[in-house]
Amino acid sequence: MLITEIFWSIQGEGLRTGMASIFLRLSGCSLKCSNCDTKNSWQNGIYKDVYEIISEIDEYGKRYPESQVVITGGEPLEQDLTDVVKYLKSKNYFISIETNGVNFQDLEIDWWTISPKDVKDYYINENLFKRISEIKLIVNENLNIDIIKKIRKISSNFPIFLQPDFYDKNNYKNTFSLFQKCQENDIKDIRLGIQVHKIFNIK
Ligand code: SF4
Repeated sequence: MLITEIFWSIQGEGLRTGMASIFLRLSGCSLKCSNCDTKNSWQNGIYKDVYEIISEIDEYGKRYPESQVVITGGEPLEQDLTDVVKYLKSKNYFISIETNGVNFQDLEIDWWTISPKDVKDYYINENLFKRISEIKLIVNENLNIDIIKKIRKISSNFPIFLQPDFYDKNNYKNTFSLFQKCQENDIKDIRLGIQVHKIFNIK
């Protein structure tokens, strides 16, 4: 598999914010969003086989035993995750994934964070509908209330996070306005999100 990095930190976004996490950041993403904050993962990365990956993760796991594993990218579902997920499960890790929602693989993953993108008209693969644990939407000029309503129609079983671009302070006001609009339109379970790891100035 092509890997950008494996590291230990906290989950900085969404409902599982603040949890100790081992990140497996895979390389490559075909969407190339202009506001992508992990552009370093667009490169080819380093090839590692599943055993190398698991042993690196296990080193962190022994040191920080409460950690979940977060599979992210780049776009992790552009590489076959079958083996790595199988091995992580055999070692009883809680596995989260963060995906743009375009692709699908039938995997035994515990927590699905879907972050649909404007470059794909906020498309979410239908096979993911029953698995969504949370939705994360980055607020920009293309995100509007109709898109949020459409996503809410999939199900009311998961929260939808509205998240500003951390470094764009002007965007915070727009994020709050959109949040307020959602409340006025009675769209259920909308949350405001922020990237906590950036406040701590960590990865
Ligand atoms: S989908 Fe995610 S990883 Fe891919 S380019 Fe967009 S923001 Fe970056």
